Amino acid sequence: MAAEAKIVALVGGTLIDGTGALPVRDAAVIVKGNRIEAAGQVSVPPGAAVRRVDGKTILPGLIDAHVHVGTSGGGLADPREFSAATLAANLKTYLIHGVTAIMDMGAQPRLDAMKADIDSGAMPGPRLFGVKYGLTAPDSHPMGLLRELRAVDKLGSHFREVDTVEEARSWVKKIAAEKPDGLKIYHSRSEFPGTNCLDCNREKQKPEVLKALIEEGHAHGLRVFAHVAWPSEAREVAEAGVDCLAHPITHAETGAAPVFELMAEKGVWMHSTIVRVENYYALRVEPFLREKLRGKVADAILDSLAMENSVARARHEGDGISADARRIFDVTMANIRRARKAGVAIVLGTDSGGVAGLHGVGVPRELELLSEAGLTAMEAIVAGTKTAAGAIGQGDRLGTVEPGKLADMIVIDGDPLRDISNVRKVSLVMKDGAVFDPAELTVH
Ligand SMILES: [Zn+2]
Repeated sequence: MAAEAKIVALVGGTLIDGTGALPVRDAAVIVKGNRIEAAGQVSVPPGAAVRRVDGKTILPGLIDAHVHVGTSGGGLADPREFSAATLAANLKTYLIHGVTAIMDMGAQPRLDAMKADIDSGAMPGPRLFGVKYGLTAPDSHPMGLLRELRAVDKLGSHFREVDTVEEARSWVKKIAAEKPDGLKIYHSRSEFPGTNCLDCNREKQKPEVLKALIEEGHAHGLRVFAHVAWPSEAREVAEAGVDCLAHPITHAETGAAPVFELMAEKGVWMHSTIVRVENYYALRVEPFLREKLRGKVADAILDSLAMENSVARARHEGDGISADARRIFDVTMANIRRARKAGVAIVLGTDSGGVAGLHGVGVPRELELLSEAGLTAMEAIVAGTKTAAGAIGQGDRLGTVEPGKLADMIVIDGDPLRDISNVRKVSLVMKDGAVFDPAELTVH
């Protein structure tokens, strides 16, 4: 007979269960094996291994619904950024920041191998989900950008450029056969408009191709995620039946409000990705950040950001891009506020992995930015737990601390409802019932 699963009890803290319900003081969470047995004001069964968490807050493990694990988050200047060691460090960085599940949003050739390494325990990291491929119009974002950066060899292997309905349907079929956790499409005419006009004036998907991509995705049971930047693009994908926007309409305020109303009505989710926009200038503004993050972020990435040939440096020191980034940031914040007002389901996603988009580090920052954009602290937490789990198709297993769910939890020092920045003080991480001490999870 198999040995009885071990029972662990977190006892004495305040429980915020991720559903949006009021916090429960002096709570206990009982975990048997990798599942939550009971949570709230419940009694501790005899024989349970008790961990006191008095004065602390128990939350569901955080979920980042939009990352790119294969891209480093550095400045694309140091070859070590793409080493296996750095990839492993990036995954650990999520755990260090209390993130127990992530979804890769595009073009990750090693996704299945990484999933296997994480699930076997060979590589410590959050639960990994992903779309594996990205489908875009010929030479459109991000392929145009990768060509401009001469990074197609490194990063372009899992993008497919589709021009016709037939190509669209046949690529979706091939991709679906590999059983990804969703389908990612790009529908965007300019990525960085303004002074530097990087990756701009591209072609969007033709209407019939867009429709075919989404229909074929749904026919194979795949949730469809769309990269968009402008209100018209968001409207087009929402009308064509997309499930989730990968960004919150970053490029214009005019015309955004009615699109958010349409999205709320149709139940279209939306990734927040505010920190992605902030990253376009933040590391220049805060150079000290790099040293503060030693031990939590791989050295190769921190070093690369500061190198002479770093794309992050070029972007920040080139003329005009920072002003453009600032404008896009302001638009993004205003549109998050509008989306919330319209009732759109806002999903925490950081888009980490892009230039200066540091893995893991972006999650607490995204929670702070969501609250600056007008979400209550509780709404921000729900965006990064229950709603994020729903958006990645894991709502029945993850995202809340409730009986029957998988045991993914974090304990933080202090009250995040009083100050959302307290989510930075992670003192314990539990993933699938296994406990990690973030202080021992350093990276180099
Ligand atoms: Zn992305």
